[in-house]
Amino acid sequence: MFFDDYDTPVFRPPSEARSFILRLTRGCAHNQCTFCAMYKGVTFNVCTDDEISRQIAMAAQYGKDFVRRIFLADGDALVLPTEKLLKILAVLYKVFPNLQRVSSYAAPKDILRKSPEELIKLREAGLKLLYYGLETGDGELLKEIKKGVTAEEAVEAGQKVIAAGMKLSLMVIAGLGGVKGSHRHAIETAKAINLIQPTMLSILTLRLYKGTEMLAKYENNKFELLSPAGLCREAREFLSNVDIKPGHTIFRSNHVSNYVPLGGTLPQDKAKLIKELDESIEQLSDLTDWEVYTNMEY
Ligand code: SF4
Repeated sequence: MFFDDYDTPVFRPPSEARSFILRLTRGCAHNQCTFCAMYKGVTFNVCTDDEISRQIAMAAQYGKDFVRRIFLADGDALVLPTEKLLKILAVLYKVFPNLQRVSSYAAPKDILRKSPEELIKLREAGLKLLYYGLETGDGELLKEIKKGVTAEEAVEAGQKVIAAGMKLSLMVIAGLGGVKGSHRHAIETAKAINLIQPTMLSILTLRLYKGTEMLAKYENNKFELLSPAGLCREAREFLSNVDIKPGHTIFRSNHVSNYVPLGGTLPQDKAKLIKELDESIEQLSDLTDWEVYTNMEY
């Protein structure tokens, strides 16, 4: 049964709302990040060839000509061997005549495992965009959140994607370092972004999900969340230190988790974005009572 293939939660970036979600794995092979509850309780496994073929056949039956974008799920489809991904990409572009783009989440360790040549082959075969949760460029914080890579490796992973000619949508998490780590998180993340020069950059805000180590830390008073004004100050410090090549990066901070929606292109809109943040800081500074998003469920 087709729907049996979607038996555990499936996540996708907001920009893939119109895409055919093709599940290649269940869960995330890493599944250790302390803030992430996306695949908690899901045992990682690779979908069988039958499961993959069945999803493709069903999508082709219902809308062969309508499929223009395909997103490979779940958390890190890039964990699959390159040869297998190349075969799947070839089938997809054959079956869906109007397919324009295939994209996927990519964990840094998966990117690092691929050689530059493998990434180029994947891009040439139509894997055009990777979504990569950098989260922070601060090495100490990366260790704390158990991302599984050092700051240098996190940067190298992003640079490899860009060097292969793929588009890179990079996500960072505001508030991840809490009150104590906010300054370092902002500065070090800006440094990482400057080295990577991503195609797209978005800021999400930390929310504490049920069952995560981050939530336990907060409940044990070992982590202090930033206030809405504090988050804006952090975003301001981050953006002030971001140095992007002209006309290069689409910037978004309009995720549902954010208190202040922002959008523009960097570097040209940098001054405007900072001004908007200054206004928000002024408006939010006196706020003493705000909704704290903890114990969240998807
Ligand atoms: S790599 Fe991504 S999906 Fe996997 S645990 Fe970390 S944040 Fe969650």
